[in-house]
Amino acid sequence: MSLIAKAKPTLAHMILSGWEKKGGLIGIVTQNVDGLHQRAGSSNVIELHGSIWRVRCASCGRRYNLGFGNVPREELPRCNECGGLLRPDVVWFQEPIPLNQFERAERMFSKALLVLVIGTSGKVMPAALLPINASREGKSILEINPEETDLSELARIRIRESASKALQRIAHLVEEEFIEDRRAVT
Ligand SMILES: [Zn+2]
Repeated sequence: MSLIAKAKPTLAHMILSGWEKKGGLIGIVTQNVDGLHQRAGSSNVIELHGSIWRVRCASCGRRYNLGFGNVPREELPRCNECGGLLRPDVVWFQEPIPLNQFERAERMFSKALLVLVIGTSGKVMPAALLPINASREGKSILEINPEETDLSELARIRIRESASKALQRIAHLVEEEFIEDRRAVT
């Protein structure tokens, strides 16, 4: 946990939050639980696998924001509403992802003209369905990943580099194409 608390947003996180502020990027769907997109200033972030900076009540489901860096220590906190135990609000292995988050993500994808798939293996379901369905609907997929993935064959453009390097390199193209005329990417 303390390692995650020390992690800082990368250049890639910053570039994406800049695009959202300029009005070209609709939002971000992430499987990460580290909250770094929000720390970088992104606001429309769907966290499919939850966040380590939130807890939720194991009994009634109520969620509490802890604030960045505030991980509960020795004593397990309890719910104000029902006294139930609070657990990290993250999706653990083999747990289902919250349906409402997935539906929000689907709506976000449906508005996009271009889908950037950055640094994901494409092996985790149902998250991988989002780019798969987008591709079936004819949307262009741009993949950024140092390695070949299960989603590579869907991608019209593949950049085999780290997220920060690749985004920096394509930033002016994306901005010309999708931000100056206010079209949108996800
Ligand atoms: Zn409760």
